[in-house]
Amino acid sequence: MHLTEQQEAEIAAARGQRSATARPTVPALEGMLFEAMPVLDHGFVRVIDYMGDDTAIVQAARVSYGRGTRRVSEDAGLIRYLMRHRHSTPFEMCEIKFHVKLPIFVARQWIRHRTANVNEYSARYSILDREFYLPAPEHLAAQSHANRQGRGDVLAGKEAAHVLELLRGDAIRCYDNYAEMLNEDEAGAARDPSRQGLARELARMNLTLNTYTQWYWKIDLYNLFHFLSLRADAHAQFEIRTYAETILRAVAAWVPIAHQAFLDYRLGAVALSAQMLAVVRRMLAGDTVEQADSGLNRREWAELMGALKG
Ligand SMILES: Cc1cc2nc3c(=O)[nH]c(=O)nc-3n(C[C@H](O)[C@H](O)[C@H](O)COP(=O)(O)OP(=O)(O)OC[C@H]3O[C@@H](n4cnc5c(N)ncnc54)[C@H](O)[C@@H]3O)c2cc1C
Repeated sequence: MHLTEQQEAEIAAARGQRSATARPTVPALEGMLFEAMPVLDHGFVRVIDYMGDDTAIVQAARVSYGRGTRRVSEDAGLIRYLMRHRHSTPFEMCEIKFHVKLPIFVARQWIRHRTANVNEYSARYSILDREFYLPAPEHLAAQSHANRQGRGDVLAGKEAAHVLELLRGDAIRCYDNYAEMLNEDEAGAARDPSRQGLARELARMNLTLNTYTQWYWKIDLYNLFHFLSLRADAHAQFEIRTYAETILRAVAAWVPIAHQAFLDYRLGAVALSAQMLAVVRRMLAGDTVEQADSGLNRREWAELMGALKG
């Protein structure tokens, strides 16, 4: 992750500000505010602002006149009940805003989550940084044979070096041609005064998908949990998963009770179909159940066995 001196100074100034407020605040999250948490080679996640805490969930659920909290154990019990039974609206009372720097191909996956508010860095207006994501050697893997949407063994030796060279070389060449077409230096001055330079909105189409973009992303806690349930899951691509895991750290600091309920009832939980439940019941009754007489297809059977074995 690279931040300029000016960016570091702006973050330090923001972190030094204090505001008096009657609203509830969360000291653990206050301590993380504005800080750039590194992700991948040049990316980051920063918490910019938030509204609500664990007690705001309880307050909304009880439609209370005051804070709405009782004993911590009662509040935790209520939050866990709400999570277990997918009673969603109390979680929507909490909101959080992030500043995220991420490769464009990760942004394309991320933007599919429609229940957030987004404002992206404008590459029509500004010039994108000369920064590209290059996978660390342990993440440079071959196509998986078992899963068409996944990766298999890590590439090694000459092949790994060749692939990295191609990724790096193509990104640099495309960026250099972008800069050439723009005909602008970093300060915005013309490189060659005899040329007009291509518009930024057109020149950007030459960039590779591992170029970094940035956005502000605001979402309520319910929809954030939905995002995290899909993107912090083992089936998510490694790159977006590392962002989701970083966000999870902020969520743990922000709403520790709801975070634990999410781990217990969503991220670490498994949904069983009616047929799967019937198989488990037969097994508990001592029956020997085979896939052929289970009522499950092979894939469902494998998923159930995988879940039961852990
Ligand atoms: C592992 C993985 C693989 C994927 N592979 C592909 C792929 O190959 N191709 C592809 O195109 N996408 C793919 N996706 C994206 C996926 O199909 C979803 O678009 C994405 O995960 C966003 O999910 P969502 O719509 O539930 O989330 P959000 O947009 O955040 O919506 C949250 C919830 O709000 C509700 N909602 C939001 N908008 C609407 C609406 N307009 N109408 C009705 N309900 C709405 C739904 O209940 C939804 O679940 C993949 C995602 C994952 C996690």
